[in-house]
Amino acid sequence: MSTLAQLLAVALVVSVIVLMRLRARLRALESQAAANPAAVEELVAAPDLGAGTPRHRSSGEWLILPARGAQEALWDWDLVDDRIRFSSRWREMLGLAANEIVASTEEWFGRVHPGDRAQVQVDIAAQTAGLGIRFSSEHRLRHESGRWLMVQWSGVIVRDASGRALRVAGSARDATAQRSVEEQARREAFYDALTGLPNRALALDLLRRAIARTRRHGERRFATLVVDIDRFMSHNDVLGHGAGDEVLKAFAKRLATAVRPGDVIARLGNDVFLLILDAVHEPSEAERVADRVQLVLREPLQVLAHEVSVSASIGTALHDPAVESAPDYIRNAELAMQTAKTDGGSRHVIYQPKMREGARHRASLEHDLRTAIARGEMMVWYQPVFSARNDETRLVGFEALMRWAHPQRGLLGPGEFIPLAEETGMIVPLGTWALGEACRHMMALAPNSPTAPWVSVNIAARQLHDPALVEIVERALAASGLDARRLRLEVTENVILHDEDVARTTLQALRSRGIGILMDDFGTGHASLSYLHRLPIGSIKIDRYFVGRMDVSTECLEIVRSVVALARSLSMDVVAEGVEQEAQLSQLREMGCEHVQGFLLSHPLRADETYPLLGGVAPGAAITAIAS
Ligand code: C2E
Ligand code: MG
Ligand code: MG
Repeated sequence: MSTLAQLLAVALVVSVIVLMRLRARLRALESQAAANPAAVEELVAAPDLGAGTPRHRSSGEWLILPARGAQEALWDWDLVDDRIRFSSRWREMLGLAANEIVASTEEWFGRVHPGDRAQVQVDIAAQTAGLGIRFSSEHRLRHESGRWLMVQWSGVIVRDASGRALRVAGSARDATAQRSVEEQARREAFYDALTGLPNRALALDLLRRAIARTRRHGERRFATLVVDIDRFMSHNDVLGHGAGDEVLKAFAKRLATAVRPGDVIARLGNDVFLLILDAVHEPSEAERVADRVQLVLREPLQVLAHEVSVSASIGTALHDPAVESAPDYIRNAELAMQTAKTDGGSRHVIYQPKMREGARHRASLEHDLRTAIARGEMMVWYQPVFSARNDETRLVGFEALMRWAHPQRGLLGPGEFIPLAEETGMIVPLGTWALGEACRHMMALAPNSPTAPWVSVNIAARQLHDPALVEIVERALAASGLDARRLRLEVTENVILHDEDVARTTLQALRSRGIGILMDDFGTGHASLSYLHRLPIGSIKIDRYFVGRMDVSTECLEIVRSVVALARSLSMDVVAEGVEQEAQLSQLREMGCEHVQGFLLSHPLRADETYPLLGGVAPGAAITAIAS
């Protein structure tokens, strides 16, 4: 090679080297300019620079004032040495004294909220390993006072020629106030203010996601459960709205103990809650959760000074590829819940398509019930009650039982409309009407006298806790002229349970007017025995469940025997209901049961059908003839 050629080659190599160095220098300068905060930190701290004498000492000096004035802290993290530096604003933000040293990644990371640490690590790893030059992250940091700040980080990533991240630098901002405003707005839009649970809007969104997830990965099925508190309206009426709210809060908390951590609990409105159970493959899994809900509700809720017993009706819609939308799932689960309610509440029902028909039926029944009294469709029937003492079967009174002569559906028993009337509150006008009818009929059947038959009227929870009840009863007596001693009111243990204090006051007021109080369905509810001496109860009616099983279950037989003995020892009158067989009647007689009622002696009768019974002592044969 010629000398010239050698010279040219050397010059080329030198210029390539110079060029490479120049490019490296240029890149370093660029990064420095972009990530200048470390310099700024030093400059900001420079003693000779007063705020009133802005002098530019270097190319980065123009940043000094903005950095001082900024609300944001500046930081510079050398990833190679793992050294981090912060501007003085950082210490202020964290509530640290000016001389406290915070320049370590451990110190910073130690402040990150434990719940955010994993995400922060993922953010850093992902952003530095990538090729981008922008960095951002947001997480909670502990302030010196112990409270949590929401800090937003943004910055640039400085990389070497191979793309490896060397430094990350930028600013950190305390976004707590802004976040809490956003959070507040979000909470208001998506969370229920009373219970703090997701509201209907968020529940629908979560359900949509569950549907989409199941569509993507077919195996992750879900179940939608609608949980409705039984007779919540009467809790509200009885305890007042403030306590009603407390019932809802306590209920929501209880509900949370029945589900797994990943499951959703939301409040759809009023006393209706929604559960979205994840990964449910068999109906039995939803059944288990529903059973658990019933179980956790067994213990009464502590609400203000009261113990409140609640139960729930639960409807489940299992995942079904044919159901497309979130509202459809909720509607189906609601239908199943309504079925559970109609069947008596405190139970769980899984949705089936035929329930849609049932829902239409219920809606039209509710509509018709509103006008039933005005149209003269309601009736009160009377089931005679007889004395069983010695060998006689003497009529002593009647139980008033409501019937509805529906123009299309025919004669309906209370089981078909009383639960609906209780749920909707229509039981109050219906019960008032029945009470008036019963008093009027009794007076028409027989004038007042010590031996004239009495009438027993069933009282629902809402009526007992209605402050107007005493007045309503007085009005019915006054309008009919019926002697108060000929009227008995039947209450069940569960009716009293709502609020014993209110029940006691009302029952005492009624008792003091001479009205008899009878405890109905004795043995089927809660705390039976304790009520007997706490409340002014004069009679007990043994539930027909026990009477009907006396011949097949020694347990039932013994229960009936002990209730009869108990009533006698407390000088209470006892009525056995549901007597269907001669054997039962004679057993009851032997036990010394005073009064009996049942199909063996007579079915419930229309008022006019009772006349033949009132001609003095009714012979057993005549009674049976009427009954058949
Ligand atoms: P209840 O108060 O326990 O009434 C007794 C029920 O047992 C009546 O049913 C009666 O027909 C039935 N029964 C009587 N003897 C026998 C028997 O030997 N065998 C069988 N299998 N059943 C017998 P009903 O009339 O269908 O009433 C059902 C329930 O509806 C009543 O139970 C009561 O809780 C409620 N109810 C009826 N009328 C009213 C009312 O005016 N107001 C309120 N709040 N509830 C009412
Ligand atoms: Mg009754
Ligand atoms: Mg009964």
